[in-house]
Amino acid sequence: MGVSKSDPIIIVGGGAFGLSTALHLTRDGFTNVAIYEKDDHIPPRFSAANDLNKIVRAEYEDPFYTDLTIKAIAAWKTPLFAPHFHQTGFLHCVSGNAPQKAVETLGRFRAAADGNAQLKPHVVPLKGDEDIREACWQLNGPLTGWNGYLNRFDGYAHSGNALKAVYRAAQASGVRFYLGERGAVDEIVYVSASKGRKSSGIRTKDGKFHPSSLVIVAAGGAVGRLVPELGTKVVAKSWSVAHVHLTDEETSMLRNIPVTYARDLGFLFEPDPETNLLKICPMGGGYINTDAQTGVSHMPGSLEESAFIPEHDEKQMRKLLAHTLPALKDRPLVRRSLCWFADTDDSDFIIDYLPETSDSVVVLSGDSGHGFKMFPIFGSWVRDFLGAGQQQITRWRWKQPKPAGEKGNWGGDVSWRIGESKELAEIRPGRSSKL
Ligand SMILES: Cc1cc2nc3c(=O)[nH]c(=O)nc-3n(C[C@H](O)[C@H](O)[C@H](O)COP(=O)(O)OP(=O)(O)OC[C@H]3O[C@@H](n4cnc5c(N)ncnc54)[C@H](O)[C@@H]3O)c2cc1C
Repeated sequence: MGVSKSDPIIIVGGGAFGLSTALHLTRDGFTNVAIYEKDDHIPPRFSAANDLNKIVRAEYEDPFYTDLTIKAIAAWKTPLFAPHFHQTGFLHCVSGNAPQKAVETLGRFRAAADGNAQLKPHVVPLKGDEDIREACWQLNGPLTGWNGYLNRFDGYAHSGNALKAVYRAAQASGVRFYLGERGAVDEIVYVSASKGRKSSGIRTKDGKFHPSSLVIVAAGGAVGRLVPELGTKVVAKSWSVAHVHLTDEETSMLRNIPVTYARDLGFLFEPDPETNLLKICPMGGGYINTDAQTGVSHMPGSLEESAFIPEHDEKQMRKLLAHTLPALKDRPLVRRSLCWFADTDDSDFIIDYLPETSDSVVVLSGDSGHGFKMFPIFGSWVRDFLGAGQQQITRWRWKQPKPAGEKGNWGGDVSWRIGESKELAEIRPGRSSKL
């Protein structure tokens, strides 16, 4: 039996998936939706999307996600989202020293873009540094051995501002928000039912019980704490993020540069004119935080634990700058952090009921580090799923986790990732060697 439009629905998490879901449910006539968010403001500091920018690129190796992103980009151009979408293009390359895996991955992305009738007219081949400078004169570094393509269909979104805009829109359409201590969810509460159990609501950290007909968990990298049934199916993982603080003149000079991505080095964005910050991410296998007892990786509870980047990533970021914008290569890197997301070994999202809960708990997870581009339409998939009463898209169904004790695959096989995942404990600053 499905949930009715006036039934109380609780969404846990005011990040990308939670806000998009609230927006689409209220647009569809649901009248009793509340978001519980543990931070005291939105965009929440714990959200992977609390950021200056996220890449919005349509070409995927898998045409299923290409088609969805083309729909998402159309939605990015509608009034609520358009102020936050920047169609600057996506300059997608490898450097001259890229490993074969990176070269092959780039080739598949290019083939995906070239093979799609909507994308192909926007794709410009880049055979070397001269082509790149022709496409973007500001990239005045040596770009040694760089080659790839520019896709002008793509760009980025100012994710923090987009979250804020949807927060306001959801509030205006009647979604209730519980933030901070009142919104921090300690547990999903269950009662017994004919088939196992059923959720009756949630309990927040302040000890209060909040009843609901349906609990939708959209807790990002922290999902495993509320839904331990996921086991090693979902891995809390992080990547490094840092910024260069520019002058007004530098920000102005770099306006409209495409998202500049070397698969073997990392990527950087057009600077944000409000803060003069230019964001950089290195590419790598990421960092996990495995609980030795359960084998499950969890996002750390405090922000302080993630307020650094490893030395290796800093070197990688400086290398990317040396190749592209050498005047910035020795500048201080500010606002350094590890940013956490919920990874799956097949990079597919999970949008489904938690089994044996009498359809009273929905899990929205497995963003796998590529979910933000779907922000304008993600919630419409949740709406459709609730309407259908079951997940009709097989790849987004609940998948049984691996048996206890069996180590998860930390995403090393994902074709677009280069490098192995490391444990947070191994890279913490000040960690002393055991040897
Ligand atoms: C470094 C990095 C770069 C990325 N780059 C891109 C990109 O370029 N393009 C792209 O499309 N995607 C990108 N992503 C992925 C994108 O950010 C995520 O797909 C998206 O944020 C997932 O949304 P979410 O709602 O699942 O999680 P989040 O946005 O992280 O939100 C989860 C929310 O749940 C809240 N929460 C958790 N536990 C509780 C609790 N117990 N009680 C109450 N609230 C709780 C948190 O505070 C948080 O606000 C990137 C991710 C990372 C980490």
